[in-house]
Amino acid sequence: MSDPQGPIGPNEAIKVTNIETFVLKNSWVFVKISTDAGITGWGEMLKDDAKACAAGALEVAGYLVGQDPRPVVHHWQAIHRGAFYRGGPIKTAISSGIDMALWDITGKCYGVPVYKLLGGPTRDRVRVYGEVSEKTGVNAMKVGPKSSRKAFKYIESPLFVDEVVERFKALRDHHGPGVDIGVDFHGAVQPPAALQLVKALEPYHPWFYEEIVQALNVDVMAEIARKTHIPLATGERIFTKWGFKEILEKRAATILQPDICYAGGITELRIIAGQAEAYFSPLAPHNPQGPCSLAASLQIAGCIPNFLAQERGDNEYMELLAEPLPAVENGHRPLPTGPGLGITIDEDKLMDLVGDPHPYGPQFDPDDGSVVDW
Ligand SMILES: [Mg+2]
Repeated sequence: MSDPQGPIGPNEAIKVTNIETFVLKNSWVFVKISTDAGITGWGEMLKDDAKACAAGALEVAGYLVGQDPRPVVHHWQAIHRGAFYRGGPIKTAISSGIDMALWDITGKCYGVPVYKLLGGPTRDRVRVYGEVSEKTGVNAMKVGPKSSRKAFKYIESPLFVDEVVERFKALRDHHGPGVDIGVDFHGAVQPPAALQLVKALEPYHPWFYEEIVQALNVDVMAEIARKTHIPLATGERIFTKWGFKEILEKRAATILQPDICYAGGITELRIIAGQAEAYFSPLAPHNPQGPCSLAASLQIAGCIPNFLAQERGDNEYMELLAEPLPAVENGHRPLPTGPGLGITIDEDKLMDLVGDPHPYGPQFDPDDGSVVDW
């Protein structure tokens, strides 16, 4: 059943009554917040440590149940600063999922999309990237540095570098210059090998280089950024405005990729976009999650000026929605027009997918058995 749609007057009372969480077999984690007005809000959290996120969000009920859900920024502050030990992926994911759900409720109360509450729309259509094809309508993508060997060495041989370049060149030749192709290093390449690949791939015009090294190596990332004209992108493992401040100040990346499910939700991504604007940097929000993650990210695209593209243009999660989001056309997805996040979760279909998340998955170098990044 779909939620009753607003408006609820600003002075009419509404109170949070319950928080529930759902861990899915593919490790997506959903949070649902209910109210005494019958309006519900939905959010998503981190895929790693899925059960910890689900349990952590339930602990917030002690603060949130009984409160008006609409002072969302105030609740963000209370949840973040109410903890003595703050930030990090799990705690920020908990505040992000709850923030998303509270914005969803607030938009539904007033009968408008969240981007309208935040001063939008700043655009009508949102550039997306994902699987490029005529069928998907998507014309931008990203790939890993592909080779016949998955693990990277500290310093790579010319044979390995040539193979990565040949594979990327083949992809560029296949799609032509009209398709944007980013290269995601996943922070799995050590700095000397990363610089080898950065220089070797430059002639084939990557759209951007993503997570060229591990996100905490901000100084090393800044050093590599100064050695290439291809923009560096990072952000999926950086949390809150305080994390992105250092990236911007040190010019370590041009494109910021905060994830709405664990960088601090809608409230925080809007602030990070403002920080980025001051450095003439755009946002390209990260998103390997489900429909709440995409819908909330589209709300950000609809209320900020400095937007580049949204990860995930495909439709793989649409079965969880009562109504699919409007389809991608010419590389763009129209802004959702429904209230709140603009989606309605089909709870029966969601319950069918509830189960144990993916097991822990370390990866090893087949040459010597040592642990490698992935
Ligand atoms: Mg990535």
